[in-house]
Amino acid sequence: MNDPRTLLSLDEALARLAAGAARHTLLEAETVSSFDALGRVLAVDLDSPIDVPPADNTAMDGYALRAADLAQAGGVLPVSQRIPAGHVGTALQPGTAARIFTGGLLPEGADAVVMQEQCEALAGEGLGQVRIDAVPQPGQWIRRRGEDVKRGTTVLAAGTRLTPQALGLAATIGAATLVVWRRPRVALFSTGDELVLPGQPLPPGGIYNSNRHTLRALLQAAGCEVQDLGIVPDRLDATRAALRQAAEASDLILTSGGVSVGEEDHLKPAVQAEGELQSWQVAMKPGKPLAFGRVGKALVMGLPGNPVSSFITFLLAVAPVLRTLQGMDAARPAPLLLRADFDWPRPDRRREFMRVRFNAEGGLALFPNQSSGVLTSTVWADGLVDNPAGQVVRRGDLVRFLSLDALVWR
Ligand code: AMP
Ligand code: MG
Repeated sequence: MNDPRTLLSLDEALARLAAGAARHTLLEAETVSSFDALGRVLAVDLDSPIDVPPADNTAMDGYALRAADLAQAGGVLPVSQRIPAGHVGTALQPGTAARIFTGGLLPEGADAVVMQEQCEALAGEGLGQVRIDAVPQPGQWIRRRGEDVKRGTTVLAAGTRLTPQALGLAATIGAATLVVWRRPRVALFSTGDELVLPGQPLPPGGIYNSNRHTLRALLQAAGCEVQDLGIVPDRLDATRAALRQAAEASDLILTSGGVSVGEEDHLKPAVQAEGELQSWQVAMKPGKPLAFGRVGKALVMGLPGNPVSSFITFLLAVAPVLRTLQGMDAARPAPLLLRADFDWPRPDRRREFMRVRFNAEGGLALFPNQSSGVLTSTVWADGLVDNPAGQVVRRGDLVRFLSLDALVWR
């Protein structure tokens, strides 16, 4: 059972998980305010009903004019109007300039803007005159109607995660509401008689439950609605009861701990008794014990209890399932090939995910303690090196780097 050849490869596990998740894909969409849609996933394409910018306007404070009215630098034109942003001017009289401010609508007839740094305002009747100290090129400093978004084009495709910048883009085309998939409902519990909640005194033999915080936050970052079922004792009956309760109203049941093969590990038999267990060992390090299956209509994923293992297995195996449920592309962010500034002479027979960080030389430094219980490594690290089974790494080799930010927030 511990022979790596009998373990499921991570890619095989992901393929099976994706097939299971595809059958559970959320079918209900809902309309939410675009002001309040951070992290949600678009259920339909968002098409623009307008051009952005809606009209030609100036990118600079300065003077709008006809380029042909100025043969050489130093020419003087009377100022015929003033156009602040948000105001509409009139057609530009030939042989004059319009004082204009960034975002101001280009008056009809003008074909160039000269920035105010290249102009000298001169006294005179009315709005005075301006000396233009540079020869303008037609089109300069003009932001064209539709240069950002053309009316009718899709600005955000279905399946897009709504990042802050995506919400800004939705707002720029005037979308007050967005059609998104409902949030996946995830029931979360931790197993372990040793677990104590932060805020409680730590008895002998106890440790604080960190996975509950980590996993709940990862689920929230992935756009999920989390039902927290707390800590479940290391007993088969209690684990079965928790699974039954969790299955009632969730798309996914996520657990941590109790998933190995010891007598205190009850998750596997509990899933087998209440539903169906598909697999429980994946050839990855950290994270070998990783159970998945189904209870009732809910998918179940049982993560290992070691805090680094549960964090990494979430990123690599649970996050893709959550993406599939929401109609997103499940693929991980593509790895970057970066230089290892460390040696890894004794690789594992399983595919490994080491905690690394950018150094000042533009390479990757390795966290000195890669143990799966050392949570400090996850905060220190910028990312993971995805190292193939049995692969020795020598200083200077190119390795596959996965950014933690991209894994957490994608
Ligand atoms: P298990 O997978 O239950 O055998 O747990 C493996 C290791 O992870 C043990 O040292 C546990 O004490 C620890 N562990 C399990 N669950 C948690 C948790 N929720 N928070 C922190 N450590 C945990
Ligand atoms: Mg345990």
